[in-house]
This record gives sequence, structure tokens and C-alpha cells, in this order.
Amino acid sequence: MTLEIVIAGSPGRDMSSWCAAFAAAMPQARFHPWDDKGPYVGARYAIVWKPPAALFERETGLQAVFNLGAGIDALMDMPQLPPHVAVLRLEDAGMAVQMVEYVLYGLLRAARGFDHYAAQQRQELWAPLPAVDRAAWPVGVMGLGALGTRVAQAVAALGYPVAGWARSARELPGVEVYAGDAQLPGFLARSRVLVNMLPLTPQTEGILNRAHLERLRPGGYLINAARGGHLVEADLLALLDEGRMDGALLDVFHDEPLPPGHPFWGHPRVIVTPHVAAMTLQAEAVVQITDKILAMEGGGSPAVVARDRGY
Ligand code: NDP
Repeated sequence: MTLEIVIAGSPGRDMSSWCAAFAAAMPQARFHPWDDKGPYVGARYAIVWKPPAALFERETGLQAVFNLGAGIDALMDMPQLPPHVAVLRLEDAGMAVQMVEYVLYGLLRAARGFDHYAAQQRQELWAPLPAVDRAAWPVGVMGLGALGTRVAQAVAALGYPVAGWARSARELPGVEVYAGDAQLPGFLARSRVLVNMLPLTPQTEGILNRAHLERLRPGGYLINAARGGHLVEADLLALLDEGRMDGALLDVFHDEPLPPGHPFWGHPRVIVTPHVAAMTLQAEAVVQITDKILAMEGGGSPAVVARDRGY
């Protein structure tokens, strides 16, 4: 019996290159690009990125959904996704190294004074700052999963003091690990550069708020490369304007694209990037998802998202 697999992107997104890449990797399966008006194909698996809800209403034989990204918050928000359908997501798949680059870019801009030098250049000013004192730049990474762990280790390798915060405690060489809500205040209080690598769940929504951000060390700097829903944007703006925080590198926003005229666009101490911190890489994603499908077909059980915890 042929294995039928549906590929569905967000409305209007052309998924033909994905279909071709998966078909080449798994010739034994038949890949169907989602079509709003198409027939029921009896798919056992769906490979998706922000799919239409109708997918779950029509394809009632789905066993598992593979998300073409690391964050599954958009899927979790879909009431049509049946509870018995397993959800699998990309784990690293070439995104961790991109996240490392993104975070180091923000950290170095802040700690090495590169923003300062850019302003000096515009004034034709030659005025070196003192050498960086890494001890004055403790970094705190929220979320120690596939991406956060690699980020924390990369920052540690540069000699900055690093702590990480996760739900559960663990040993991570070179990284001071804080766990659970009870240890969040202590984690924030020792951090100056706060890096958000959490999934967006009901527990983490709005976690980058005034009460938490004002616990950071003086001169606090935020790097949010996870989800816009984590940040209370008005709280960050107020803390920047009050001088309680120094700056922010933001890749994700409450509304994307960031609306015209939003105060972040022109803010002198905010750097905006258009949700590009770590992009899904097609070749890596195809290999990882194909391996997981083959494992499931062979009776194996690759890691699935814990639907009750939301990540
Ligand atoms: P993982 O699921 O591997 O890791 C999540 C981490 O967050 C875990 O360490 C987990 O703790 C921790 N965590 C979850 N909930 C809580 C909580 N309530 N309190 C404390 N810690 C918590 O995710 P990834 O590393 O793969 O990805 C992280 C996020 O990055 C994605 O969900 C996505 O939103 C974002 N992302 C952004 C991209 C971009 O381009 N901007 C690209 C890719 C991802 P524990 O280990 O104890 O379970």
C-alpha cells in the first residue's frame, strides 16, 4: 500500500519545492500538495507549516503531523488538530548554528561597543573604548532545549559568564543552570544580557514583562529570537526610555510583519530583524523528517511534542 503524505503550508504559500525534495528522498511515498478543493487522499502523515484548519477536517486518517519549524505554537492554537495525532517538530536541523550566530551578533554589538563605534564613525570620531570586561556581561539564556543549549555553550566558549533557565534542572558544563519558576528571579538578577529561547506556551506568554526585565543587572540588553508573544512590547519600550535597560535585538514581534510606524522601527537602541534568526533549511529538514517517518513506519517512536505541556 502506498504511503500517502500531504504537504501543507500557510495559505498561498507555494510548497512545490518541498514536495519535489520529499519525493526525491522517499520515492516509496506519494506526496500531495494541499489543495483546498482537492479530494481526501487518506494521508497517514502531514508535513506542515501553519496549515489550513481544513486539513485536519478532511484528512481524518492522520497519525502524525511534522512541523517544518522548531516552534509549534501555531499548531497548538488549532482546535481542529485532533488530540490523538502525534506532533513532531524540527529539532535543530541546522537552526542551532544560525541561532548561535544571531545571539553572538547581538551580544558582541552590545558588549564590544560596536553600536557606539558606528555612531562615532558617523561623526568621524576615533575614540577607543576600554577593553571588554566579560565579567560585566553575564548572559542568561531562557530555555535550554535544542537551540538554547547550543547558544549557551557558544557564549560560554567565548568566556562570558553564562546561566541558563529551564523547567528541569540538569548539568551543563560551563553553564550555571537555574530551573523552574522559583529560580527565575535569581537567574534574572545575575543576568545582564537576556536571551530568550523559550517555546511560546500559556506558561511563557508575556514572560518578558516589566516585573521580570527590571530584575536584570543595570545596562540590561534583551535578545528575543523566540516568539513575539513572549514580550510585552510596551514594557520594554518604557524600560528603555527610563534608562533601566540599554537596548534590544528583536527578531520576533507580536504582529508580524512589524506594522509601519511601530516604535521599534525607529528606536535608536532597538535593532529589528524580520524573523530570520534561524531559518528552516530544506535539505536538513527533509532528511530529519524522512528519518522520523521511516522510524515510525518501522515501529520506532521518535520524540513527539508533549501536547499537554505545549512544547
Ligand atoms: P525546545 O522545546 O527544544 O526547548 C525548549 C526549552 O524551554 C526547554 O529547555 C524547556 O525546559 C524550556 N521551557 C519550556 N517551558 C518552560 C517554562 N515554563 N519555564 C522554564 N523553561 C521552560 O525548543 P527549541 O530550542 O527547539 O526552540 C525554542 C524556540 O525557539 C521555539 O519554540 C521557537 O519559538 C523559537 N524559534 C525561533 C526561530 C526564529 O527564527 N526566530 C527559529 C526557530 C525557533 P526543559 O528542558 O526543562 O523541558
